[in-house]
Formats: sequence, structure tokens, C-alpha cells
Amino acid sequence: MSQPLTVAPGKKIRLEEFDPAYANDDYNKKTAADRIRENAKKMAELGYRLYAENRRAVLLVLQGMDTSGKDGTIRTVMRGLNPQSCQVHPFKQPSIEELEHDFLWRIHREVPRRGNVGIFNRSHYEDVLVVRVRSLVPEREWKSRYELINSFEKLLTEGDVTIVKCFLHISKEEQRERLQARLDNPNKRWKFSKGDLAERKLWDQYVEAYEDALTLCNTEHAPWHIVPSDRKWYRNLTDSEILRKTMEEMDPRFPAAEEGLDGIVVE
Ligand code: AMP
Ligand code: MG
Repeated sequence: MSQPLTVAPGKKIRLEEFDPAYANDDYNKKTAADRIRENAKKMAELGYRLYAENRRAVLLVLQGMDTSGKDGTIRTVMRGLNPQSCQVHPFKQPSIEELEHDFLWRIHREVPRRGNVGIFNRSHYEDVLVVRVRSLVPEREWKSRYELINSFEKLLTEGDVTIVKCFLHISKEEQRERLQARLDNPNKRWKFSKGDLAERKLWDQYVEAYEDALTLCNTEHAPWHIVPSDRKWYRNLTDSEILRKTMEEMDPRFPAAEEGLDGIVVE
């Protein structure tokens, strides 16, 4: 049976109904790599047109538990894009200055400008995820944020930013293996922090917080994609397919050239 990537807005999202190890039969690891390369080529062309058109932007929002593959996804989808018109922004713990503003302040300033593709490695959703699970603000404050996020995303989409939100869905067992692999591999240890174990202990609370964020902020203008992410090749393939399709549907066009260029010979 095939598994949907999106859910109708308004419908309650239960993550246990989505298999994180799902992969459909259309591709295998080898053919997926070819397809990803093909997508990268296509996205390079579409990104070039988007940049030339200079009217609209794309924002890819990546969320997921630790080790779900946000960095791996970025490496994959960036491949096709021009570094001049594509920016990645990782959102870490807010600085003191950031905390002295509203939670969307630091986010809004990183939204891609016209012609560009922006990628958020974590995002404003942390403000209803870690902030909720860790009780970093009072409940009534994080509860009001779902609506604020929907309005913010509406503002962006009406300003010609196409928002693509991907939740990288991994199982708790897959996370255990990936965290262990980070510990066991000296070249990966830098990625490990003891804090990751503390977060892992709160797995169930994170699932609950994610289900609310995915359900309450799954709008027509900015829907969520639930990307099965236990298999890296399938996760990368899915993310690259989603982005390619989005950019194809936007169908960016080269702007009209200046009048009267015919016959000009450069001496
Ligand atoms: P990493 O993605 O592994 O580099 O970790 C970044 C860390 O920053 C994660 O533990 C996030 O939960 C944390 N973080 C991101 N945004 C916020 C936020 N708004 N409030 C508190 N912690 C955050
Ligand atoms: Mg980390």
C-alpha cells in the first residue's frame, strides 16, 4: 500500500499511522541516486530561471528529531542549486538579542529574497517544539503560536514565497542506531552531544508536540509533507522530488529582454 506524503488540512495527524521505513517500489537505492542527479540538473535550470525572473522565492523548511537527516537532505538538494541564489540557515538556541524580540523576528529576516531558494535547518517550529517540551515559555504563550505561525506563513506566501515544509520522520530505534554510530565513529563524534540523550528521553513528548505542530499548521497555503526517513536514500529522493515538483509547478520564466536588441553587434 502506498503511503501519502501530505494530509488534508484540518485532519488530525497521528505519526504512528506513518511508517518511517516506508519506501515505494518505483525506485531502489541505485535508481534513486540516478533520479536525484536528474532532479538536481532540472533544479539547477529552474533555479536559474527563478533567479532571472526575480519575482518569487522558495523556502524549504526542514524539521525532524535529532539525526533525522536535515543536514543530509540539505547536501542532496543543494547540489543542483547556484550558491549565489541559495542560502541555508540553521536555527540554534536563540541568542540574548533574539530572545529580546518576538519569536518570529530572527526567522523573518532570513526569509529568502525574490529569485532565491532558502533552506531552514530547523525553524520557527522549534518555538512550539523544544520550547513547549522544555517549558521555556508559559503554556498560553506557545499555544498562541500556532495561529501566529499560520498568519506569518500566509504573509510570506502572499508575498510570493512558496513554502515547502518537510518533516523528516524517523523511528526511535533508527535514532538509537544513528546516535550510536556517531559515538562509535571518531569522525562523527563532533556531531554528538550528551544533550541529545536528554532530548531522546523526551521522545514521546516530542512526538506529541510534533503531531500538534503538523496538524495545527497544516494549511492550504503551507502544507506539511511527512517524509519517511529511516532509509536515507528514500528520504533524499523524496525531498528532492518534492522540491523539483514545487519548482516545476512555479514554472519561473526569463523576463522579457529590453526592446530593440535585434541586430546589435558588439564591437
Ligand atoms: P542542531 O540542529 O543539532 O545544531 O541543534 C540545534 C539546537 O538548537 C537544537 O537542540 C534545537 O532544539 C535548539 N533550538 C533551535 N531553536 C530553538 C529555540 N527557538 N529555542 C530553544 N532551542 C532551540
Ligand atoms: Mg544536534
